[in-house]
Amino acid sequence: MTALIQTVDLHRTFTVNAGIFKARQTLHAVNGINLSVDRGDVMGIVGESGCGKSTLARMLLGLTPPSQGKILIDGQEVGKMDRRELARRVQPVFQDPYSSLNPRRNIASIVAFPLDVHGIGSPQDRRNKAIEMLERVGLPARYADNTPGQLSGGQRQRVAIARALVMNPELVICDEPTSALDVSVQAQILNLLMDLRRDFNLTYVFISHNLAVVEHIATQLAVMYLGRVVELGPTANIFKQPRHPYTQALLASVLTPEPGLGIPDMGLGLSFPDPLHPPSGCTFHPRCKQKMEQCSKMNPQLKKDGSGEVACHLY
Ligand code: SF4
Repeated sequence: MTALIQTVDLHRTFTVNAGIFKARQTLHAVNGINLSVDRGDVMGIVGESGCGKSTLARMLLGLTPPSQGKILIDGQEVGKMDRRELARRVQPVFQDPYSSLNPRRNIASIVAFPLDVHGIGSPQDRRNKAIEMLERVGLPARYADNTPGQLSGGQRQRVAIARALVMNPELVICDEPTSALDVSVQAQILNLLMDLRRDFNLTYVFISHNLAVVEHIATQLAVMYLGRVVELGPTANIFKQPRHPYTQALLASVLTPEPGLGIPDMGLGLSFPDPLHPPSGCTFHPRCKQKMEQCSKMNPQLKKDGSGEVACHLY
């Protein structure tokens, strides 16, 4: 089966100012990522803030071009696809529904906007389709003429989801779609996304800093650390037996009394390293309780076996 979306040796670097009188430096935000997502799957991508997961999301959406490598949708290279064709097939749902919705437009016109851009249907057809989508995501038609400021955070995220689905995309890139919401509302939005996946035959890439959130929705899981994937495989396998010490620490964090509130103290000691000055060898070694002599010298590559893939000298 051809993967719906695949990344091949994907890299993205940024040049950043390090300060007055200092040379500009290179930040390697995404560093050689190979992922493959089959149609109907949900690929969860987890890691701390600064690990490169949001840069990866922007690349999958065609908003940030790769510095090296490529992204394929159904075997077609994203960089060579017509932007409208890409937008028809791949849609985003972002973290902050308020900033991603135009505060001066009414809800129906926000949801219908992609149809306007693609010139689909008459203005009345577009409004009818928008109202149909609003009802499908759990917002009654009476909200159609409200503005985003009149809705709660959860309702605004429902609007953003309706807008993402109005063009019948195949793939939805969800970048922290629930992290700005109250814990009780998070569960409602996750349940909605799971229902929509089944009903519309969708494929998701679901990005989150929180393993507890991803557990409920992802079929496959990629754990990122400093721009690289350090563990990859079926979500059930990783939750049953996490192998990379970083994955083990992330999982330990979701067993705290308040899951969903970010990554608490994972007992990792040092804080997340400066991505401009990544540690040598395995970039996790300064925080790893299982480090060995070779860990600061040699960078482990992802190795595949029957359970999945892991990048660690222990395996
Ligand atoms: Fe820890 Fe070494 Fe494995 Fe890195 S390679 S995670 S430092 S044991």
